[in-house]
Amino acid sequence: MDQNKQMADLLFPHIDKTPEYYEGKYPQRQLPEGAKVTRVAPSPTGFIHMGALYAAVIPERMAHQSGGVFFLRIEDTDKKREIEGGVSEIVKSFAHYELKFDEGMTGETTEKGIYGPYKQSERKEIYQTFAKMLIEKGLAYPCFCSEEDLNEIRAKQEELKQNPGYYGQYAKHRNATFDEIKSELDKGTGFVLRLKSPGKPENRIVIDDLIKGEVEMPENDQDIVLLKSDGIPTYHFAHAIDDHLMRTTHVIRGDEWLSSAPIHVQLFEILGWEKPRYAHVPPVLKMEGTSKRKLSKRKDPEAAVSYYSEQGFPVESVREYLLNLINSNYEEWRMENPTDQNTEFIVDLSKMGTSGALFDLVKLTDISKDRIALMSANKVYDLALQWAQQFDIELAEQMRNNEAYTRAILGIERGGDKPRKDIAKWSDVKGYLGYFYDNWFEEYTKEGYEFPENLPNSDVLEVLEAYKNTYNKADDKDTWFERAKTAAEGLGFARDAKTYKKDKESFKGHIGDFMSVIRVAISGRKNTPDLYELLDIMGEERLQARFEKAIKSI
Ligand code: GLU
Repeated sequence: MDQNKQMADLLFPHIDKTPEYYEGKYPQRQLPEGAKVTRVAPSPTGFIHMGALYAAVIPERMAHQSGGVFFLRIEDTDKKREIEGGVSEIVKSFAHYELKFDEGMTGETTEKGIYGPYKQSERKEIYQTFAKMLIEKGLAYPCFCSEEDLNEIRAKQEELKQNPGYYGQYAKHRNATFDEIKSELDKGTGFVLRLKSPGKPENRIVIDDLIKGEVEMPENDQDIVLLKSDGIPTYHFAHAIDDHLMRTTHVIRGDEWLSSAPIHVQLFEILGWEKPRYAHVPPVLKMEGTSKRKLSKRKDPEAAVSYYSEQGFPVESVREYLLNLINSNYEEWRMENPTDQNTEFIVDLSKMGTSGALFDLVKLTDISKDRIALMSANKVYDLALQWAQQFDIELAEQMRNNEAYTRAILGIERGGDKPRKDIAKWSDVKGYLGYFYDNWFEEYTKEGYEFPENLPNSDVLEVLEAYKNTYNKADDKDTWFERAKTAAEGLGFARDAKTYKKDKESFKGHIGDFMSVIRVAISGRKNTPDLYELLDIMGEERLQARFEKAIKSI
């Protein structure tokens, strides 16, 4: 029998399937022309980085906007980095941000789709089948080098100022005979499986990256590890096998993988498979002082995806912002299509920046205010309550105990051409609604009120006393304002600011000052949404009570 075949049987006696078996088991996908098959392939480390969410939206859009397939594969070959429940956490986070997977993991141990298993640790036999085939073909070999052997090689390469690594003349076991290998195995020496790289460092290859354009790099000449000593593949080998058998057409991943792309391209060539197209996504950056750096898990709380749900940024706002970061023409599209679903926008990889997207919470906040301003009061109520139930129980109780009242408050100045933009995230809602609730209002005004400084207390008192009997809930807005002006005038205030400015000496102030007193008395604040609507919603009884309370405080 051929020595390679003998070696393959010796190393993988338990592997009885063939590559053809898997090629048949995972058939070519029947998809319309141009449909892309993409995936995200995170490790279950428990932490979802904003950069990872950003990088996941891209393949999701590429698949779904082309009528293709998007799937979730879990890359858990590095058991040291894994945490318990890591897969569920990933599934939950991606689902929260409305990334809809057609296939892949759906929970810690559950999955859907016929191209699985979608968790690498369940695919050991598949990897070994292909590894066995490579040995048979003389394209891979076992390497018995110990840590010390590798250190020795490195020292020598350093001394001779040569490239580090396991290649060419340094690849000690590359040409070992069957007998030599057998004798190592008989001794029980552990081994890794290496690729017999056909590459030469003087050769250059070009990767036609869909984001970065044509990138030229040296060909891979390293006999890289395919299977580690425990028989688990390295990322490189697993990527080639998985993306081939899962029929991925576009590998869209972080650009930290670009430097390994020559290895991947070589693996596809050796295996005789059509290569996927690659798109390497630049990282999400943050401004620090005058320079940019990567958004850091360690330094930046906003690097964690959980930060946004805790703060209560609506999913819609975060998605909106990410699309903005992905393609800067998104903003223009949104202006032209203010109410379309964000999935209507067509993401274009060639329009992405190549060096990194600058993440900016201020911009996210602005975008979020715009999105929330366009929501109906009922939607704001529902989403804010949902958030509060998890993160602010007191607020949730207030909202539920005063449901109709709260919905009405959230409707103030909503729906017109110029909706108010007070709320950027659900954690802002307490500040916005707080004073409407009587028990909280009591608390906020414990220390008294900040009435306009230009008015003496006696004037403030007069305004309050007068207005108590002036307000009439039945008035429409114009009548209401006229009535207030007349009352103000009766107390010596100018009907409008213009009149006041012409002859300040003759007035106590103007209608604005008068209204200010009322605003502070009923809200405890200098700024509120439209006073007419506010008084209308608060109702006469509450209004009287608040006036009494303010009068007493003076
Ligand atoms: N497991 C790799 C990562 O966590 C996947 C890279 C890829 O998408 O191919 O970054």
